[in-house]
Amino acid sequence: MHQIPGAWRRTAQGAGLVDADGTIRPTIFAEMSALAAETGAINLGQGFPDEDGPTVVLETARRAIADGVNQYPPGRGTSDLLHAIAEHQQRFYDIALDPHRDILVTAGATEALAATLLALIDGPDDEIVVFEPFYDAYAAAAALSGARLVTVPSRWPDFQPDLDELSHAVTDRTRVILVNDPHNPTGAVFSAEVRTEIVRLAEHHDAIIVTDEVYEHLVFDGRHVPIASEPGAWSRTVTISSGGKTFATTGWKIGWLSGPAPLVDAILAVKQYLTYVNGAPFQPAIATGLRMPDDFFASIAGALRDKSAILGAGLRAAGFDVSTPSGSYFTVADAAPLGATDADEFCRALPRRTGVVGIPLTAFSTPEGRSEVATLVRFAACKRTDVIEQAVGRLALLRS
Ligand SMILES: *Cc1c(COP(=O)(O)O)cnc(C)c1O
Repeated sequence: MHQIPGAWRRTAQGAGLVDADGTIRPTIFAEMSALAAETGAINLGQGFPDEDGPTVVLETARRAIADGVNQYPPGRGTSDLLHAIAEHQQRFYDIALDPHRDILVTAGATEALAATLLALIDGPDDEIVVFEPFYDAYAAAAALSGARLVTVPSRWPDFQPDLDELSHAVTDRTRVILVNDPHNPTGAVFSAEVRTEIVRLAEHHDAIIVTDEVYEHLVFDGRHVPIASEPGAWSRTVTISSGGKTFATTGWKIGWLSGPAPLVDAILAVKQYLTYVNGAPFQPAIATGLRMPDDFFASIAGALRDKSAILGAGLRAAGFDVSTPSGSYFTVADAAPLGATDADEFCRALPRRTGVVGIPLTAFSTPEGRSEVATLVRFAACKRTDVIEQAVGRLALLRS
């Protein structure tokens, strides 16, 4: 256990991210990965793939290193990657971007998010509306920005937010509505009604929509619809994505954001003092990936849909209730039918009981939101099919 000093301690304590005495504990992800290593359990906890992505993407990075692409790239990103991102947004979503004004390459989606909130938040009177449960970096980035986090519950089993609760949460104090679609940890894809309502509320209250779409190519049924493509949304939306999930290169940390040039400039002003730039040889590689043919993108969605189906069927057979995901790496299961009352306890015991690791959804909630997800567990399907099948075989032990 460590004590953290200084300004971040006060900020993190205020946001409930560390204990009252300033002690920072290992995250549940670190704890569960350690437990997986200790027990030899299959780790369906952390969401990273166990296979490499497209060879041509990996080869482009190798060649770039050999060719000496090893020094600081330009501040906004290499011209080639900026063009590849613009072509990608045009090809898939019919969104026209100026590559040198409307796009910024970042150190993963994580830096894009942090820089965006730091750039847009004015002070403690600003509010960020977020759908709960949420990706764990959101609360930390919001705390760093100094804004107040306002949560809207996305409830089991379909995890679509309630439109009345949403409209109550968004007020004139709302600076940012933070969207994640497709959604981690729930696997939900927002309905057209929810997207429309978010845009309507953002316009009405003059808020900015920040949307994390790192799973844009992992939608199982039909195509991803970026909220920026909704009527009226573009001029007030910052769209964030990353190569990590799409190309199975989560360790490369090549992300990007796009939006109207004045917003992008404001975010660049922060980003240049966070990392300045990153990943020179990986930028041409991700550009190559973004230019791959349509069938590559269809195939990764199809592969993950099939793996999620195997995982979902196995979880049902083991006695869980299962929320069928519409996209992303993840499937949420309810352990209540197995007698669980506390998913934290259930997940701590699961590796020794069955040899499988999952993450309790409480890891993605504020202290106030925990009761909504008390018995829910997130399992990752982004593993080899034989690994998923083996995990499913082990989970069947819960029945006996
Ligand atoms: C994985 C993930 C990220 C992080 O993306 P990086 O490009 O690795 O920074 C951001 N948002 C969500 C929802 C994720 O699941």
